[in-house]
Amino acid sequence: MTLCLMTVHAHPDDEVFLTGGILARYAAEGVRTVLVTCTDGAVGEIVDPTAATPENLAEVREGELRAACAILGVRDLYLLGYRDSGMAGTPENADPRSFNQADLGEATGRLVEIIRRCQPQVLVTYTSDGGYGHPDHIRAHQITVAAFDAAADPNRYPQQGLQPWAPAKLYYGIWTRSSFERLLNGLREAGLPPPWEIAEGETPGAPDEMVTAAIDVSAYVPLKIRAMQAHRTQIPADSPFLRMPPELAQEIYRIETFQLAQSRIETAPHETDLFAGLRV
Ligand SMILES: [Zn+2]
Repeated sequence: MTLCLMTVHAHPDDEVFLTGGILARYAAEGVRTVLVTCTDGAVGEIVDPTAATPENLAEVREGELRAACAILGVRDLYLLGYRDSGMAGTPENADPRSFNQADLGEATGRLVEIIRRCQPQVLVTYTSDGGYGHPDHIRAHQITVAAFDAAADPNRYPQQGLQPWAPAKLYYGIWTRSSFERLLNGLREAGLPPPWEIAEGETPGAPDEMVTAAIDVSAYVPLKIRAMQAHRTQIPADSPFLRMPPELAQEIYRIETFQLAQSRIETAPHETDLFAGLRV
């Protein structure tokens, strides 16, 4: 059986933060890795003005994404091609080309087609709040949850003319509170600022109890960092994510954590391999 991992992300660069390590690790182990990126990232902030302009940002980000995929060993990249919807509450949310305005059934159908063609056993996306409330991340969650069922149902999207495919497991990528705490403390000790402004008393991240799968990607941290560097328009060279001391980077990035959301096979309560139960 050919093992296949599919991750569904909202914008170019999201694939690195939550899943760069698993993409690199499973590719190195011979698993077919597939990345679906839903939007073009056209309204992202440009942190390096020498790298892009607002006019060519989508095009430049596609190039960055392809470079990151090459570094991480992603076998197949699919672009759904929706326009970036911008942060919640911005005018871009109403753009008719945006993912936010897309018909959910149509967008789900496009993901179903990719699932039926690639036949992944494991699907990975975000939690229902998209991790941090961005409309495109929430949409990516919604279509992935819908496609997990629809791809398996012969009565859904029969016009595709493809065999139904039932992925075995659906996971949500999670940044835990404890890993944020370690990051913020480590940056403080290294004399570096936090990656973004954090209100007094606020601890970002999801409760640690949500984690059901912790995957060791320590051997792939250097690749993850190189993939971050490929996203020049989004992650400046002086970003704390890139400037932190190598020992701290190793500690922060060496484990990627997930919550098993749905499974069609029996699973253990705590997993160390997303393909546990699927290897023969
Ligand atoms: Zn994003």
